[in-house]
Amino acid sequence: MVAVFQEKVTAAEIKAKARELGADIVGIADSAQLNANPPDPADPRIPANISDYDADRVVVVGKRLSAGVTRIPRWDERHKYYNDELTLTALEEITLSLVLWLEQKGYPALIVPPTHVDPWRYQGDPDKHMKPLLPLEYAAVEAGLGTLGLNRQLLTPEYGPRVMLGGVLCSAPIDCDTRREVALCHGPACGRCLAACPGDVVKHWNRDWDACDKFRSPHGFHQLTGLFTQIMSEPDKMKQKALLRSEDSFNIWQSILRGAGVLTGCRRCQDVCPVGADYEKMLKDALDQIPEDNDAKRARRAAMAAAEAKGEMPDAHREHARWIGKPPAKA
Ligand code: SF4
Ligand code: SF4
Repeated sequence: MVAVFQEKVTAAEIKAKARELGADIVGIADSAQLNANPPDPADPRIPANISDYDADRVVVVGKRLSAGVTRIPRWDERHKYYNDELTLTALEEITLSLVLWLEQKGYPALIVPPTHVDPWRYQGDPDKHMKPLLPLEYAAVEAGLGTLGLNRQLLTPEYGPRVMLGGVLCSAPIDCDTRREVALCHGPACGRCLAACPGDVVKHWNRDWDACDKFRSPHGFHQLTGLFTQIMSEPDKMKQKALLRSEDSFNIWQSILRGAGVLTGCRRCQDVCPVGADYEKMLKDALDQIPEDNDAKRARRAAMAAAEAKGEMPDAHREHARWIGKPPAKA
């Protein structure tokens, strides 16, 4: 861009604008850090791949999830899906307004959506996890907003993992934030995300993403293709018609209307995490008990904690230490 058409803008002004538009948290990541440190070097998803000109910075914007639905303990609750989808809509409006505001000041900008995946990399298997175009949790860590937890969810000091993220790319010459050094996660000694997970997919500083997707997106593409396959291979016409009119079919139709249950779904690990200033005052009374916990999960958490006490960290931790952070000093 020709500099003469650009107004001077600072990081503080961009953050203030994002908050005025409705963001609850906002940080600015230096794309040079993201370009140099892709979380999966074999499959880098970095700002430099999105724009040659307008991707020097990632403004990471977070909108908190509403506490009322967080307090509903069932993971498969349509109220949760729907309320979260409205949060996503609000986030999209905030990021679009921020883009237009930046462009008025002379800085071309673009949104990186939090939920959309890269269709060019689809391999014909609806059960395989599809990654987003840019890993916004990692961008949020680079932007100083938090650190990753035991199951790789982003934890923030304000709302723990109960935030939805959006990204705005631009090349305004603004100061960047820096990563937090110390981890917010309490590790397997807490392990409440593992205890509460309905799919039991939480691993030691990782999760089984394919399995998680069946819960995070319960009425998503895998359910749609599964139902179509069932309908097409059913030889009995009456049973075929019943499948067409089934609850699964109804749920898919409802979810396609708005994205609730597709772009939103299970977030039980986010609900029960004790990190975040909101937990004690808004959530603890409703979420302290975890009925999904059992002896096998307790034994796995104990084994993880024992290994860590001996200094035996899994590869998943070593590979993501930059974003998990250092363990907090013992009191
Ligand atoms: S989103 Fe649900 S299934 Fe996935 S890790 Fe969290 S609790 Fe488990
Ligand atoms: S629930 Fe506990 S172990 Fe899981 S991410 Fe939160 S602090 Fe870490």
